[in-house]
Amino acid sequence: MPGRETFSYDIGMRTRFRGLSRRQGMLLSGPAGWGEWSPFLDYQGAELVPWLRAALEAADDGWPDPVRDRVPVNCTVPALGPAQAHLLAERSGCATAKVKVAEPGQRLADDLDRVEAVRAALGPQGRIRVDANGAWDVDTAEAALRQLDRFDLEYAEQPCASIEELAELRLRLARRGVDVPIAADESIRRAADPYRVAELAGADIAVLKVQPLGGVRACLEIAERIGLPVVVSSALETSVGIRAGLALAAALPELPYACGLNTVPLLADDLVCDPLIARAGAIEVREIRLDPGRLTAARADSGTADFWQARLVATEAIR
Ligand SMILES: [Mg+2]
Repeated sequence: MPGRETFSYDIGMRTRFRGLSRRQGMLLSGPAGWGEWSPFLDYQGAELVPWLRAALEAADDGWPDPVRDRVPVNCTVPALGPAQAHLLAERSGCATAKVKVAEPGQRLADDLDRVEAVRAALGPQGRIRVDANGAWDVDTAEAALRQLDRFDLEYAEQPCASIEELAELRLRLARRGVDVPIAADESIRRAADPYRVAELAGADIAVLKVQPLGGVRACLEIAERIGLPVVVSSALETSVGIRAGLALAAALPELPYACGLNTVPLLADDLVCDPLIARAGAIEVREIRLDPGRLTAARADSGTADFWQARLVATEAIR
């Protein structure tokens, strides 16, 4: 991209998450600052375009006016054992936890132990949401949520993969009097039509992520049109990408749920001087500054940087 500075980064993850042990991406410069372009490696072709639009919005246009100066966030509890999960939730300082469930190779008993430990750490006032990343079929989801709801769930994120399954699950839970709202994540960010899940009554809550949905302003429009309360979550970015999520959360007229933006602690390092990490359960809405020392430490090796440059050129060509 002529005239634009770019930087490719490669940072380790503290805990494997979403099957990842490293996080890679690019920063792109523009008149408004730096944007992060870090599509996961399983995204391809046209799927990469909204991620690029989001990065260019950050670099070229900056942010809409905020209506709040701090954003409450959840802590994220990966598929750990109960003792580690308890410690992580307790130390986070967050009143809300998002707990990973339905991890491949684990059983419902592992999920129950983990959620129980997090409930004990947060106390009865804490809020707990679970995220299955679409791994359950409807029968399994129904059985799992009936059991997990004994720990009082705020909502269940993407319990099943398809919108039809989510809609069926919502009907079954209602019939059984199980009051666990369903949030749609993958059914919005990887769908050709982000409104379909709402039209088919597949969700009570919409999870919006800035990069896969094409930027802050694109997400504000979805939030306005989708007719569901919204949770803003990250795509495991560095603080540069988190700044965009923060801009969305700061600009939304209503923000009824804690956001999933406190994910910088899942990375072993960052690219800015004062990382966007929660204090006392919230992230302050503020500007960031790149840290030259951290950039040096996080610089991708030449093979990785070449891969990202080629990926960028290919995506720019179809934008
Ligand atoms: Mg999710």
